Amino acid sequence: MVMSSKRFDAVVVGAGAGGAAAAWRLCEQGLTVLLLEAGPRFDPTRDYKLNQPDWERYQFPEPPGSRGGFTISQLDRLDPADADLRSWSRAAGPLVRDETRQAMGPGYWHVQGVGGSTLHFVGESHRMHPAAMKLRSKHGAGHDWPLAYADLEPYYALCETQIGVAGPGMQGDRWRSTPYPLPSHPLSPSARLLTSAGQKLGMTWQANSRAALSAIYDGRPACNYCGNCNRGCPLGDKGSVDVTFIRKALASGRLTLKSGSPVARIHSKPGGHIESLEYLEGKKLHRIETPTLILAAGAVQTPRLLLANRSRHFSEGLANTSRQVGRNFMETLSWNSSGLVPGLTNSHVGLPSDAICWDFNAPDAIAGIVGGCRFNSSTQEIGFTGPISYASRLLNGFGKGLKEKVRESFGSAVSVGAIGEFLPNEATYIDLDPLEKDRLGIPLPRLHSSLGPKNIKRLRFMAEKSRQLLKAAGVEEILEEFGAWDNFSATHVFGTCRMGADSRNSVVDAGCRSHDHPNLYITDASVFPSSGGGESPSLTIEALAVRTADTIVHGKALPPSRPPV
Ligand SMILES: Cc1cc2nc3c(=O)[nH]c(=O)nc-3n(C[C@H](O)[C@H](O)[C@H](O)COP(=O)(O)OP(=O)(O)OC[C@H]3O[C@@H](n4cnc5c(N)ncnc54)[C@H](O)[C@@H]3O)c2cc1C
Ligand code: SF4
Repeated sequence: MVMSSKRFDAVVVGAGAGGAAAAWRLCEQGLTVLLLEAGPRFDPTRDYKLNQPDWERYQFPEPPGSRGGFTISQLDRLDPADADLRSWSRAAGPLVRDETRQAMGPGYWHVQGVGGSTLHFVGESHRMHPAAMKLRSKHGAGHDWPLAYADLEPYYALCETQIGVAGPGMQGDRWRSTPYPLPSHPLSPSARLLTSAGQKLGMTWQANSRAALSAIYDGRPACNYCGNCNRGCPLGDKGSVDVTFIRKALASGRLTLKSGSPVARIHSKPGGHIESLEYLEGKKLHRIETPTLILAAGAVQTPRLLLANRSRHFSEGLANTSRQVGRNFMETLSWNSSGLVPGLTNSHVGLPSDAICWDFNAPDAIAGIVGGCRFNSSTQEIGFTGPISYASRLLNGFGKGLKEKVRESFGSAVSVGAIGEFLPNEATYIDLDPLEKDRLGIPLPRLHSSLGPKNIKRLRFMAEKSRQLLKAAGVEEILEEFGAWDNFSATHVFGTCRMGADSRNSVVDAGCRSHDHPNLYITDASVFPSSGGGESPSLTIEALAVRTADTIVHGKALPPSRPPV
């Protein structure tokens, strides 16, 4: 063990959305910060292969060490009565042939690396619906946030400016104190088609707010509309935190960033004060003391670190007097439907998820169901940007005939995506795997998830509305559908260290400080008390993280904004 003699004002664990934003704000306010990241650094020009002739063969790169370890316990048995929600494609048939729900790919999609999961993200940049933060008191389900939209509003605006978010003038109940820093992107052919299809059904679609530059901004270039954000953006216009918050924190000269440095142990004094932590650098364990510790390892690895660091004084793990660490896990309730529209051209061109419909996003917007959802144009997001996707998913046949069909149909695919509220339940949580450990001997996190009837009811609404939209858009036959009913495929995960006013049933307070440890803060998606009605989470994670940094430095956050009159 190497004892570090260096001193920093704060140590941040995890260089993803929440860790990067917190580190930036602390550095900006004059503090010195050590940012420890388990995964590697990515080089956008080398690692993201969108400039290669065979680019479509490359998904998001996965160099060694770029995925954290975890296991998934037995998932739900599938009730045949819900078989209309199965995942399938014309070319591949059913995607799940089992009688139980299965993990699609890794199941929990994330990136271990400098930039965290934002390296892989699409870049939707959303504020929470104000009412989605008061689910329990107003709608009798889930949990309330101990703060309101107005408390987050100044931080939303601040983060949007750091990122260069491009968005529309108005977004209904999401009132703003300042306009978006950049105008919204022009709609792609498939987004325009869905907007007019939505009009036929009485739905309002608008440009989505996107962490992708619609003009040169802050030394970064504008988007070229290649459509492949989730394969990694080689230009640097996508607002992943490596090119936004981390770049700025490094420029301050006050950030020390160590990649390939997983944190293993956290030591607390008997009274609760966090004293030091251990991390791996090269092959050696290092121990460093810190006056302030910020955990931002994500909603799966943060509860794992807390649960694994049991001690005589904290026998349930750190920050876990309430026994809520790992509970309240919320995964992604998602749906996608796709088909071909005769006569549509160039649907592969444009920014992914460039149009959105918020009509059903408020918690009471879907009749008879608590918790909302949103719909978005997903043609590029789910990969209909190149010919291989058509041949392997939408079209039948082989050889010359298949090539002919690809030539005829390429550019006419259109897809609707939907994401909805995931209401927490007792069967959905994270604990430590009793058998599997990492190379340091620390148990891996184990994910348990069950949808339950309320989430399935919302998912059915999302599926049925998506089908209606495609029909209104001119799709004669749906050719692919996939969703959360039979596929565990979580990109947005939340809730495992939830914030709350009452220390008996929450892990951190409204300032993201642990109820048990006065110098321990959590600034990742694990603090979310509720998932929201389909909002993408990164902007809210970042806003909360910057707010937390302000409370650490000044003892208080910026005053809440007032809605415009
Ligand atoms: C394919 C995909 C598409 C998405 N699209 C969107 C979108 O359009 N908009 C949006 O808002 N969100 C999107 N998301 C979700 C978004 O990326 C995440 O919600 C967000 O990055 C979570 O932030 P976080 O800080 O909680 O965790 P992360 O960003 O995952 O960061 C956690 C970091 O902690 C590190 N870490 C873990 N354990 C340790 C340890 N022991 N020691 C040191 N470091 C550790 C990890 O390596 C990682 O870098 C998407 C995600 C995926 C995968
Ligand atoms: S569409 Fe724009 S933001 Fe997305 S990867 Fe391409 S250049 Fe980057």
